Amino acid sequence: MTRKGKVIVFCAPSGAGKTTLARALQKQIENLHFSVSATTRLPRQNEKDGVDYFFLSKTDFIERVENGEFIEWEEVFGNYYGTLQAHIEEMMNLGKNVILDIDVKGGLNIKQIFGNEALTLFILPPDITSLESRLRGRQSESEETLKLRLARVPMELELGKQFDASIVNDDLETAVGKLRQIVTEFLNK
Ligand code: ADP
Ligand code: 5GP
Repeated sequence: MTRKGKVIVFCAPSGAGKTTLARALQKQIENLHFSVSATTRLPRQNEKDGVDYFFLSKTDFIERVENGEFIEWEEVFGNYYGTLQAHIEEMMNLGKNVILDIDVKGGLNIKQIFGNEALTLFILPPDITSLESRLRGRQSESEETLKLRLARVPMELELGKQFDASIVNDDLETAVGKLRQIVTEFLNK
């Protein structure tokens, strides 16, 4: 079967707002569907298995890696995260456009695999201070995991230069407007 849908990759330093932006965009553009990744991280409050992530044990995750079930996977903040090949191919074969909310290395791997059928978007915070205060404001992290997340930022900003487009998420409405323009153009190509 030939793939009919396209892939849109959202990457950003943790807390920059990629989830907020991707969800806002989904309301404005038809036929955008989130890929549900697998992870070994524990669920946060309000996160549901099969909706936010497929929450797996480390043993189960590694078994799936060995079975070749992931199109890409990475270790991020001490946990494993991966995109299940069957999951996104099923959506794409049905003509659905798929949003991937994944880390920068995973994003670059997806671009290598899908080429022009993928658009890689890098979301930047206005500055590091706002990034930290957004992460704190989300109240999802302990002091320790917050530090881990901030420590990755320089590497993420460096790799983000290789993305198709970068968008600064300062004013939310402005950022959504820019994204809508870039994504619509890509989907109509
Ligand atoms: P990410 O998915 O990149 O980790 P989130 O989308 O969870 O980030 O956003 C982190 C926090 O910042 C959330 O509490 C969100 O409501 C807030 N946020 C997102 N975008 C903006 C913005 N443009 N201005 C102010 N706060 C924002
Ligand atoms: P969180 O724990 O905040 O949900 O996610 C931590 C990081 O893992 C984020 O940068 C998120 O985008 C990334 N991530 C989530 N799913 C995947 C995935 O399937 N593959 C990769 N490579 N990264 C992922």
